[in-house]
Amino acid sequence: MRIYKVGGAVRDRLLGIPVTDIDRVVVGATTEEMLAKGFRPVGADFPVFLHPKTGEEYALARTERKSGRGYGGFTFHASPEVTLEEDLIRRDLTINAMAEDDQQNLTDPYHGQRDLEARILRHVSPAFAEDPLRVLRVARFAARYAGLGFTVAPETLELMRQLSQSGELQALTAERSWKEISRALMEDQPQVFIEVLRACDALKVLMPEVDALFGVPQPEAHHPEIDTGVHTLSVLEQAAKHKQPLTVRWACLLHDLGKGLTPEEEWPRHIAHEFKGLKLIKAVNERFKAPRDCQELALLVGEYHTHGHRALELKPSTLLELLQSFDVYRRPQRFEEFIAACEMDARGRKGLEERSYPQADYLRGAATAARSVAVQPLLEKGFKGPELGEAIKRERLKALKVYKEKA
Ligand code: ATP
Ligand code: MG
Repeated sequence: MRIYKVGGAVRDRLLGIPVTDIDRVVVGATTEEMLAKGFRPVGADFPVFLHPKTGEEYALARTERKSGRGYGGFTFHASPEVTLEEDLIRRDLTINAMAEDDQQNLTDPYHGQRDLEARILRHVSPAFAEDPLRVLRVARFAARYAGLGFTVAPETLELMRQLSQSGELQALTAERSWKEISRALMEDQPQVFIEVLRACDALKVLMPEVDALFGVPQPEAHHPEIDTGVHTLSVLEQAAKHKQPLTVRWACLLHDLGKGLTPEEEWPRHIAHEFKGLKLIKAVNERFKAPRDCQELALLVGEYHTHGHRALELKPSTLLELLQSFDVYRRPQRFEEFIAACEMDARGRKGLEERSYPQADYLRGAATAARSVAVQPLLEKGFKGPELGEAIKRERLKALKVYKEKA
């Protein structure tokens, strides 16, 4: 049996960037031989094993054939006769279809190294079209390597477009899509992920609510970039620049969906877009079964981001409602993430990327003021049940009035 490193490990070593996980392919072996060597089998369908000591992945060389819609519609064929070249040809991109042995001898039948040097993301073979997930994967790699100058080959983008228009994207499960989306959002240039999906018509299919923002104008005074789609991309870009977590990035992507619903006669204003967008945010959340913290933050940011921007003008009672809506007393972290998303929204505007955002500290101070209200004295005064709740609210309101006067 011969063992090769494949995929990301080879690609990233040649790019000179740190290798995070190592995938290996085993040629000329049977399942029985692997088990006899102590490898542990994983996954029901794939002939993939974990190394008895290192826990790293070793997959038997295999070929694949499409036999139906979606991912379930694949038949795998793994046997000792499958060659390395046959295994590599089923892979998505040429830069992912290289292998190397222990001595770093490269096997590169599909010219991955050439494309690596030319900074091109190119599909390996027409079989690319057999798995629609590859549309998302390519967009994700584009987001990851945009900083190195990589772009998608025109013929690959064309294949992605055909896949998007064929209806195959709808066959993807929420779980597989979310895995790609969430990883892509955490890349250095997540806005490139959305741009590439849009360029191949996949965005229309996956997130029509986001796609609809392109071509929708906003008032130039607040939004020098004017276009709502362009703004959304800039907000994502800022979120990545400021190393925001996934929850914040997801909220950034969805915060303005309501603007896609504004009747053209009302452009460039978007009255009540915050509230109108909620049902769209909910739909996208549910479509991809986003984790609960991502779902929650996206809805809260959607509803309250304008409050964030107007923080310094808010009446103490409105400020209190805001803090209550966030349950800032028990969920301080979530409020911090809201503030971060608002700040990214403010910076994701043409020419305003470096502006200061005093609202952030003001909101933090307000939360601290409201949280500083002690419950014990109220208990001692004999308040209980709903009355206690009301008394706490009154005290918090007082604290916020004092805070606002001082600020
Ligand atoms: P990462 O650095 O994100 O791990 P990677 O290229 O190693 O990047 P993996 O998801 O670990 O990506 O997959 C390992 C290899 O398996 C890829 O490089 C690619 O060759 C192949 N591969 C994975 N998923 C697919 C797919 N859906 N279609 C085609 N090839 C795939
Ligand atoms: Mg990998």
